[in-house]
Amino acid sequence: MSHVVGIDLGTTHSLVAALDGAGRPTLLPNRLGQRLTPSVVGLDSEGRLHVGESARTQLLVHPERTVAEVKRRMGRDLPVTLGDRRYSPTEISALILKALREDAERALGGTVTEAVVTVPAYFSDAQRQATKDAGELAGLKVERLLNEPTAAALAYGVNHLDAEQYVLVYDLGGGTFDVSVLEMFQGVLDVKASAGNNQLGGSDFDQLLAAWFAAQFEREHGVSLVGNLAAQVRLKAAAEAAKIALSSVESTPVIVPFLAPGRGGAPASLEVEVTRARFEGLVTDLVRSTLEPMEGALRDAKLSRKAIAEVVLVGGSSRVPLVRRLVAEYFGREPREGVNPDEAVALGAALQAGLKTGAVSPARGIMLTDVCPFTLGVEVQASAGRERVGGVFSPLIPRNTTVPVSRTETFATTADGQRAVEIRVFQGEARLVRDNILLDEYLVEGVPPAKAGAEKVAVTFTYDINGILNVTTRVASTGKEAVLVVDKRSQRLSPERRNEARERLAREWGEAPVASAPGLASASASASAPGLASASASATRDSDADALLTAATERIATAPAAVRPRLESLCAALREARAKGDRVTAARLDAELTDLLFDLG
Ligand code: ADP
Ligand code: MG
Repeated sequence: MSHVVGIDLGTTHSLVAALDGAGRPTLLPNRLGQRLTPSVVGLDSEGRLHVGESARTQLLVHPERTVAEVKRRMGRDLPVTLGDRRYSPTEISALILKALREDAERALGGTVTEAVVTVPAYFSDAQRQATKDAGELAGLKVERLLNEPTAAALAYGVNHLDAEQYVLVYDLGGGTFDVSVLEMFQGVLDVKASAGNNQLGGSDFDQLLAAWFAAQFEREHGVSLVGNLAAQVRLKAAAEAAKIALSSVESTPVIVPFLAPGRGGAPASLEVEVTRARFEGLVTDLVRSTLEPMEGALRDAKLSRKAIAEVVLVGGSSRVPLVRRLVAEYFGREPREGVNPDEAVALGAALQAGLKTGAVSPARGIMLTDVCPFTLGVEVQASAGRERVGGVFSPLIPRNTTVPVSRTETFATTADGQRAVEIRVFQGEARLVRDNILLDEYLVEGVPPAKAGAEKVAVTFTYDINGILNVTTRVASTGKEAVLVVDKRSQRLSPERRNEARERLAREWGEAPVASAPGLASASASASAPGLASASASATRDSDADALLTAATERIATAPAAVRPRLESLCAALREARAKGDRVTAARLDAELTDLLFDLG
């Protein structure tokens, strides 16, 4: 029997759920019997592939052949290093999805060929396309991409079908923050507005606490840890552990033995006591910054905070007591208990999968609508008196429009004899395109030459329920559907590239189960890496490495002044590490540089 599952493909953890015989969503255990599978991929010393817990345990000791938090890189063309090979973020996600699929098949005792996969509501078009491609590489038809807060609301709503109320879902995870406002009415779950921040989560809390640890170490031992990447990695791990402890205790000791050489050269350790109050002082501004998207979502939904009947907290970072306190203060009421913040998203995805297959009948009374959380439009020239000013953003689909939606606008040529029109597609809320995100650019050819303004091109945006945008154009005078010839930005894999990637993954990892624990790796997987695969990988490796350095070097000129020195020194250090053949350092610098570029947008 073939099953459809719901997958929460998280930054830190992933979960799979399916409907049980009675139509109730249930989490599926992985092969280790756990519900949460770390979203980590690694190679062991023999070149065997690990996904999940066993990969996570080697993250600290072998960062050069372990990849974590790949979700933060989705939709970007920056390769990820795994040992001496390089993969796209899509391929790494595919390896995670493949392991999840195989574990689900084991738990269900049948095949799994389709899935509903969740994404942050704020994921851009490229990030969504990449997620879909990853599913397909993993042998899963992605039946639907579902926004994470919407999935959580569905999991909550299914138990409150008779209520008529407004619900706010506050989802603070490892690397993203999403908020959605929904109306529930006779089983219809209507998303009114979504907002969020793709660059805010528990990992930022860890960073701040780690920086405080480093300052304590320097004060005690007189040695700065700046530039000591090995020490930074260990501090961040210690910070996360302390942060989690402080969710249940008021104070916790932190000991990191032999962290770095002290003043005299002998190894020195970090030994501090950190209190919850201290931690809260460090992260208070970050936590407060979640209030702004929350107000924005309420404003867009045209609701006051008093109108919200229930606040549903999801995401691991919503366990931080300060987060609960601030949200409770804001609404003047305690948030809803009884929704498991780790599980709600996956359970909602399984329900959506059930709605799709008919296992959950609409007769049980659930219907779901969603919105596009950001404005989509094109660049146009505007006339200011006699002058024409370029770079103006012309919205086609305003944010928080219910999806699916299709909108058409007609634009005129701006020059005499113009034969082609450039269409640049942007996402964002700013009036000028340079402050928004460029999604794609196309060249529309075949425009009959005429006087400026005489020819018109109709541009149609179609935004589907998966949050994926399709752009078509039509030249008015000829009626020709124009051909979009340039597609510079699209991260979507072409059919050929998808086949190549699929073949490569099959060649390297085979159809054999991906190992979840060291002992389980199959012989074929360990024998899979010989000459062929690694030779082709090393042929591309240098140019991939160049791609990162080129991208970073180009970005130096336009980066904010405050970040420029760090960007420059990272580029220099990475070049040097590569020249020296120091792969461990190069891998760490590579990851740091990729993150920095990601944060710069
Ligand atoms: P994602 O969906 O982004 O993978 P999760 O919802 O799994 O994220 O949340 C992961 C984040 O939650 C991590 O930053 C982790 O440190 C944090 N976290 C998990 N448990 C706790 C806890 N008890 N207290 C504070 N933070 C926690
Ligand atoms: Mg999550």
